[in-house]
Amino acid sequence: MTILSLSTPGKINLYLEVKGKRPDSYHELVTLFYPVRAISDRVELELTFSGVTVSCETSGVPQNDLNICARAAHAYFEAARIDSGVAIRIEKTIPVAAGMGGGSSDAGATLLLLQRQFQALDAGALKAVALEIGADVPFFLAPEPAIGCGRGELLTPVELPAEPPLLIVPACFPVSSAWAYKHLVIPEKTFPASPFPLIEALRKGDFAEAQGLLRNDLQHAVLGKFPLLSLISGLLRETGGAVLVSGSGPTLFALYSDFRTRDDAFAALTPLLRKYHLQPYQS
Ligand code: ATP
Repeated sequence: MTILSLSTPGKINLYLEVKGKRPDSYHELVTLFYPVRAISDRVELELTFSGVTVSCETSGVPQNDLNICARAAHAYFEAARIDSGVAIRIEKTIPVAAGMGGGSSDAGATLLLLQRQFQALDAGALKAVALEIGADVPFFLAPEPAIGCGRGELLTPVELPAEPPLLIVPACFPVSSAWAYKHLVIPEKTFPASPFPLIEALRKGDFAEAQGLLRNDLQHAVLGKFPLLSLISGLLRETGGAVLVSGSGPTLFALYSDFRTRDDAFAALTPLLRKYHLQPYQS
């Protein structure tokens, strides 16, 4: 039987503005997605004659049709009118329910692998299947820096020639996206009002300027609820980082003004964060 496999990255949102609630009850967003390859899952598919199964050893990840990868496989087979089955194995490194898009990433990889095997959908149809599964899934079909509008699915790739000096601290506990949206608090006159100044600063490699241009409207409730996050934010700030929650949290990341400061922060914080069972990643 054919075995296909793919490493698929996590993401952070360097900018996340919630523009409001739409009549269909989804939120209208403007976000800047950034892939994090240092924190990636591996998805492996084995084609079978019928049925979709999922196995994964990480707790909190469903091993049945509730797994987003199973939903993706069923949706692909249906859209492509293919009569096949698949056994999906997932090796998780992206933390679960952490605001790093782990499930969406796995679903994107599942679709890419099925498409690699069957070539049964055109690009538009594949994107439509991805969006049916989740708003972040289209990003993971081509995980490169991109502005996401609408629910996050209307993607415009952004060239960022200089990789920013980031430290990422993946969450050690889950927060559901539904909770974060339910408790959304957007302070009045939130600055900046668009992702473009941030993109410009990142393009120039002016990371000190970019530090003042990060935004995440979903972070206020999450930071208010979990004191551990304020403590870790404080540690990251003391080492020179501008700190933001990723997506609906609780993963935190820090942007530094230069690579030397980031590397020093990594060395200083690694032993401290270990006390809280946290591992920082450089990206
Ligand atoms: P997002 O920011 O896209 O909402 P997230 O990164 O905060 O996502 P995920 O890791 O995608 O969160 O997990 C959200 C929920 O989805 C989890 O509670 C988990 O039970 C369920 N889930 C289903 N399939 C998967 C999967 N393959 N990997 C992780 N979680 C999955």
